[in-house]
Amino acid sequence: MKLNITCIPGDGIGPEIVTEAKKVLDKVASEFGHSIEYKDILMGGCSIDVHGVPLTDEAIEDAKAADAVLMGSIGGNTSTSPWYKLEPSLRPEAGLLKLRKSLNLFANLRPAYLYPQLKDACPLKEAVADKGFDMLIMRELTGGLYFGERWTKEENGEQVATDTLVYKESEIRRIAIRAFDVARKRRKSVISVDKANVLDSSRLWRKVVEEVKKDYPDVTLEHMLVDNCAMQLVKEPTQFDVVLTENMFGDILSDEASMITGSIGMLPSASLNDTSFGLYEPSHGSAPDIAGKDIANPIATVLSAAMMLRYSFNLDKEADAIENAVRKVLEDGYRTTDLMPKGGEDNFKLVGCRMMGDLL
Ligand code: ATP
Ligand code: MG
Repeated sequence: MKLNITCIPGDGIGPEIVTEAKKVLDKVASEFGHSIEYKDILMGGCSIDVHGVPLTDEAIEDAKAADAVLMGSIGGNTSTSPWYKLEPSLRPEAGLLKLRKSLNLFANLRPAYLYPQLKDACPLKEAVADKGFDMLIMRELTGGLYFGERWTKEENGEQVATDTLVYKESEIRRIAIRAFDVARKRRKSVISVDKANVLDSSRLWRKVVEEVKKDYPDVTLEHMLVDNCAMQLVKEPTQFDVVLTENMFGDILSDEASMITGSIGMLPSASLNDTSFGLYEPSHGSAPDIAGKDIANPIATVLSAAMMLRYSFNLDKEADAIENAVRKVLEDGYRTTDLMPKGGEDNFKLVGCRMMGDLL
């Protein structure tokens, strides 16, 4: 099979982790007899430095022309300004929001899985005990607060700012269907998270999710308020299978869930639309504090590449091979800095980003 992949190395640690993910993809492709054609495009701070904007129309076309996009991470500063001094539409993140919207990537899958070998790195290891932690957050990605109308103005001598949270029935229905479909392949439980005791958009969310549930008698549905969910994740993390939620709640809860897996450097993600196209990226950011030091953990990006093989190319065996390689490396005791338990140097082998990629 020929795989046409556009890469967005991005900013900070992005280029380092994408290089390692490509290495792993190339290895699997040669083992299974596939060929990969890569094209790199600029997005984020690096694009602002070269083109003055976080994402050019040409880059969007290149992304659209591929079968799938593999991204590192974008964010941080440009070479001339800190990000917060830039116009909102010219900030590095604006490129990513634009790309998600123009490719209609409404379904963001964020699996949070605690590898048994990393149990000591899990801050909730007593709560997880021997039950294991394996949940998937299905986050709506092109609606809600991040895409609603917003403004800042002067009123009665002070600044007033507004963001709007909007959801249409059709937007809720399509993401709910994705959540129930994926639950069917897992432990058949959906917990839908909202704030229906306060927000109208959440009340509509609940109603539409209930309607979708009628087509899935084999899957259980529970509703949970977002504040309770944040608490339950810490109290009893093993109760969750698929969590279905809107854009901002999913953003926050997935960072919380990531810590239970030992490190944010372990979490992949897939952003999908109605076709087989997808954008795959680690859940973490560009980590400017560790960029260029060869200490970033590339596993989240490598696992995102595995999700790409699974969801965009239907290459399940190849994806399994990558996930098994990750398991093996952890089993063999290799750890990047973020995964190294305090005082664990005697029991584990510390490796850098490049070395981790070589071992996979
Ligand atoms: P951004 O603005 O791009 O989101 P950030 O610094 O706000 O960047 P992250 O990039 O997610 O947020 O980083 C949060 C913390 O996690 C940082 O201390 C960073 O070094 C660490 N971190 C993130 N990704 C990794 C990784 N792959 N390996 C090791 N540490 C990481
Ligand atoms: Mg961040």
